[in-house]
Amino acid sequence: MDWTTEFLKTFKNFCEKEIKDKAEEWDNEGSLPIEIFPALANIGYFGLLAPEEYGGSNLGALAGVKAMEMLSEYCGSTFFSASASFGLFGEPLRNFGTNEQILKYYIPVLEGNKIGCLGITEPQSGSDVSAITTSAKQLQDGSISLSGQKTYITNSSIADFAIILARYTNSNGEDKGLTHFLFELDKPGINRGKPMKKLGLKASVTGELFFDQAIIGKEECILGGIGKGFRQTMMTFNEERLSIAAYSLGVLNACLKESISFARTRKSFGIPIYQHQAVSGMIAELYTKVESVRSFTYRIAEEMEIDLRKERKDKDAELGAKCSALKLFASVQAREGTNLAVQIHGGAGFMEEYKVARLYRDIRLAEIGGGTSEIQKSIITGTIMKIKS
Ligand SMILES: Cc1cc2nc3c(=O)[nH]c(=O)nc-3n(C[C@H](O)[C@H](O)[C@H](O)COP(=O)(O)OP(=O)(O)OC[C@H]3O[C@@H](n4cnc5c(N)ncnc54)[C@H](O)[C@@H]3O)c2cc1C
Repeated sequence: MDWTTEFLKTFKNFCEKEIKDKAEEWDNEGSLPIEIFPALANIGYFGLLAPEEYGGSNLGALAGVKAMEMLSEYCGSTFFSASASFGLFGEPLRNFGTNEQILKYYIPVLEGNKIGCLGITEPQSGSDVSAITTSAKQLQDGSISLSGQKTYITNSSIADFAIILARYTNSNGEDKGLTHFLFELDKPGINRGKPMKKLGLKASVTGELFFDQAIIGKEECILGGIGKGFRQTMMTFNEERLSIAAYSLGVLNACLKESISFARTRKSFGIPIYQHQAVSGMIAELYTKVESVRSFTYRIAEEMEIDLRKERKDKDAELGAKCSALKLFASVQAREGTNLAVQIHGGAGFMEEYKVARLYRDIRLAEIGGGTSEIQKSIITGTIMKIKS
């Protein structure tokens, strides 16, 4: 058995034991137990993409996708909060961080002892990242003062660390452009809003972060290059889009399993409902969605893995468009799939006691987070008009 297969087997047992029967309760409570972070880290989930020198297993993008798919099948909220910490926060840190930053912030997150979040979105700018107004000013003594507001931030109320995108002005008053800042959230001048009430993914907390002339550090809190924040954000988005496809696939798997099991046992007109042509058609449609999303997702994961190993000049210029197309396709298929699953369940599908009701609510984010479907379409067309003859 190879490492990935072995890991997935262990991880499935973990999900069965630690998540399966608790996901509904967490959803009702509106939060996850904090212990789930170190538990996921210990089992190896956080380290799948991380190099061995940081304690990871470095199994690659396809193994990562398969593990995310599995977790999403059990609990979308756990998937999103975990991804925001080791992915949205951890991946840019791993890609652009200094050794000191990796040691101070990345390793504790990878070990599940600390939680991270990424703050891009603001009340007046979501899709239009370049319009953000949060400002980071370098004072005469070199310290950096952050002012502004972020919203819809996953893990906002539970995170220890944040990467925040802000407009940077140096001590000479020069505008240096959008820059990522990395710091601990427990500082004077930083406040957190209450977790927001949401349509779905209720156990994954989402909320606001307020910065009122908060001194976040000196130049050591800059992540990557000064003025490189926009580009670094866009590079992070490719990975996020692949992970949302993996989430969509996990949700589709769950819909298919729940629907098969329900359609076998539920009877109407004296026969199991799957023997009615209309219901059998819905199951076939669900199955087709699972298989097509799986093929597309795995292929892009493999292409991403190959691209990671290439020199900059040889990188696939179409990969961003492919990730956008994948996210667009997978999220729509999954939303339609949850609709089919609810329909197959009839009245039961409308009841919270059935898992498909939660899947139906949760999946709606997949077409919004990580860039809306409309933004994916504009990226796809913008790219292919440039590179295709
Ligand atoms: C549960 C949840 C968790 C989130 N977690 C995070 C997080 O951890 N960190 C973070 O930074 N953000 C996070 N977000 C924010 C998310 O990334 C944004 O909501 C998303 O990018 C859309 O931005 P917006 O909400 O401002 O919508 P808007 O940009 O206001 O868009 C509104 C509508 O206009 C359309 N639209 C906008 N511009 C265009 C255009 N140019 N062409 C065509 N249509 C357009 C959109 O597609 C959409 O239909 C989260 C959001 C949610 C709901």
